[in-house]
Amino acid sequence: MHLFEAIVAANRRRVAGEKSASVPVAEFGAALPIAALTCIDVRLNHLLPDMLGLPEEQFIWLRNAGNIVTGPVSSTMRSLAMACAIKGAREIAIIGHSDCLVGKTTAMQLLDRLAALGVERRRLPENLVEYFGLFGTERQNVLKAVDFVRASPLIGARVPVHGLVIDLKSGQLEWLVNGYQGFQSVARPVSKVGRMLQKADDTLETLGQIGSLAVGELKFPETKIGEIVQTGHDWVHKAEQAATVIEDKVGPKPAGASDPPPLLPSLADRLKAATRRTQK
Ligand SMILES: [Zn+2]
Repeated sequence: MHLFEAIVAANRRRVAGEKSASVPVAEFGAALPIAALTCIDVRLNHLLPDMLGLPEEQFIWLRNAGNIVTGPVSSTMRSLAMACAIKGAREIAIIGHSDCLVGKTTAMQLLDRLAALGVERRRLPENLVEYFGLFGTERQNVLKAVDFVRASPLIGARVPVHGLVIDLKSGQLEWLVNGYQGFQSVARPVSKVGRMLQKADDTLETLGQIGSLAVGELKFPETKIGEIVQTGHDWVHKAEQAATVIEDKVGPKPAGASDPPPLLPSLADRLKAATRRTQK
């Protein structure tokens, strides 16, 4: 049995009234602690630890409004990466919840609330829905976040990434994305996720080879107000656009150089070529 199978089983028993139901931690030491990203909703403060059935030292808790992940290298992603690398988290869970106000708030309502607080519209990005991560359904939002985490070059392929939603009334967990199955699919080179991870890995490795000059010029999508990426695939596309920006800044290609191929796998090569021209 895997850790999250035990978590879900203990949760079922708690919902059924067995107050002492918890995960037998001693059996799952190799899978603990976990890192969980949830919403800031205060109704989760006591409910979530109770319903996960884990002792608090086995539960690294990250929170933001709407448990959103805006991209594979966003600040939330960096915290998840550090939770794994520094704090030893072995598995990741994105846990949405029912009745999430981030999902229920419209752009107009948010604008009104912000205006009441003295925030000027002209200083906000054009697309508030994308920028603040307002979403249609909690499930869809969790699936999107899991997609980003799986595509992230900051998270190793050996870390299972789960997606769940908790019902605030009953405390019942619904397991939307089984990270153990995702782990298996990564091992298959033909899988979409596997290819995405490889591309993202290539990109990060290449960015690491670029000097501080070029990196200083490179704006990741999340830092560009109003430009938000929706999926890991979008992020790779934006990174490819960034490669074009670098190429523009370091000047034209040397005479005789061939045009870079336009497809995504060419990104690493294009960045490397741009780097070489930067260093000349
Ligand atoms: Zn919420």
